[in-house]
Amino acid sequence: MRTIIEPFRIKMTEPIHLISQSERIEALKKAHNNVFLLAAEDCCIDLLTDSGTGAMSAKQWAALMLGDESYAGSRSWKKFKSTVKNITGFSHVFPTHQGRAAEGILAQTQISPNDVIPNNSHFDTTRANIEFVGGKAVNLLCDEGLNTTLESPFKGNMHLEKLKKCIEDVGRARIPFCMMTVTNNTGGGQPVSMANIRAVKEILKEYDIPLIIDACRFAENAYFIREKEAGYQDKPLLEIAQEMFSYADGATMSCKKDGLANIGGFLVCNDDQWAETFQNALILREGFPTYGGLAGRDLEVISVGLMEALEYDYQVYRHATVEYLGNKLRERGIPHVRPVGGHAVFLDARAFVSHVPPLQYPGIGLVNALYIAGGVRGVELGSVMFGKFNKAGQEVPAPLELVRLAFPRRVYTQSHFDYLVEIIQEVWERRSEISGYRITYQPKFLRHFTSHFERV
Ligand SMILES: *Cc1c(COP(=O)(O)O)cnc(C)c1O
Repeated sequence: MRTIIEPFRIKMTEPIHLISQSERIEALKKAHNNVFLLAAEDCCIDLLTDSGTGAMSAKQWAALMLGDESYAGSRSWKKFKSTVKNITGFSHVFPTHQGRAAEGILAQTQISPNDVIPNNSHFDTTRANIEFVGGKAVNLLCDEGLNTTLESPFKGNMHLEKLKKCIEDVGRARIPFCMMTVTNNTGGGQPVSMANIRAVKEILKEYDIPLIIDACRFAENAYFIREKEAGYQDKPLLEIAQEMFSYADGATMSCKKDGLANIGGFLVCNDDQWAETFQNALILREGFPTYGGLAGRDLEVISVGLMEALEYDYQVYRHATVEYLGNKLRERGIPHVRPVGGHAVFLDARAFVSHVPPLQYPGIGLVNALYIAGGVRGVELGSVMFGKFNKAGQEVPAPLELVRLAFPRRVYTQSHFDYLVEIIQEVWERRSEISGYRITYQPKFLRHFTSHFERV
């Protein structure tokens, strides 16, 4: 098979630099050993997130100039609304400045204290928004999803029996809605099958519980369905996406992912009463309903980006980059989540740094080692991000200790990935030198962003 090439050429460049190792050590110290607190210019290959870090296409840059900045009823809004309606099929569309604003409005308007929100796996901002209004966010990931080495096609699926049991235990009255995250970011960027979405909807229908899709990577998920699920091989990604949304009652979206934009999001639904409460909250928190939290030019860029994300050639290339890194790691026996996800490779920090116990945060040790070794910035998805405290106030580790290397869209080339492989290998060979950490400062919510760490 021939090399899968980037389906674009580069029209504009942006320099990146590798500062010296002693400068990296100093920079990390100043950042309290938390890579979120590093200056971006001190990171050479920045894989902290795929969120809002993508490169726009020439068509998007051209669309930007068409932005209609009228306060109400702009041309750009019409374009945005019709694109979102075409893909999702929902009648009410609310633009927000990013995904968490959509989540915040949903949580604030629909969740009462002690309500329970099931999901295959809640993303960190989703969980925080639910907990902030007194709700409980529960993860009901399928068993395969917890096995980091099992080669199985849809490891992001919801556990159907656990969902039924959860509804029976909690009762319909305390479950205002159920969510499904596609692809499952937290669970390793793993896809959700159409059959699973359909089955979840069937269960929820019995109890009249609405289904909300966390749609951030809907196009990547549609690509996985086309490649791996019987019956979808000849379907355009747009049709697959439309079918995914057809089983839901609403969706939250971060356009910083599969909107191929640097900012933006939306909240959509069919229910008129929900829409009224969303609209009131939107006006209070984000802006007038025809622009929400966005400028007209953003609405233009997102309208183009959402459709580009559904181009098959783009998804083939996108997935090839993730596979490329995954295959290199497999050849070298470096532990990572199999199969690779849609937007990232997840190193298995528990296996990689097996000498560091979970509550000394092996993921932080690995992230920091990658930065010192090569100026590579990844992120911990383990006990710092997802750890909890039990009733006695003791810290309970997360089920998995992962380090995510997220791939910005259309940004890095093959040589960047080859360099990355070299750095990971170097850290792997010297893994016994990686130390654990303790937290010296932490905030109440979303602690991974701003915590301070100290070597144990
Ligand atoms: C990024 C993300 C969000 C939040 O979106 P923001 O635009 O960062 O606010 C929610 N859910 C998932 C699955 C995400 O990946």
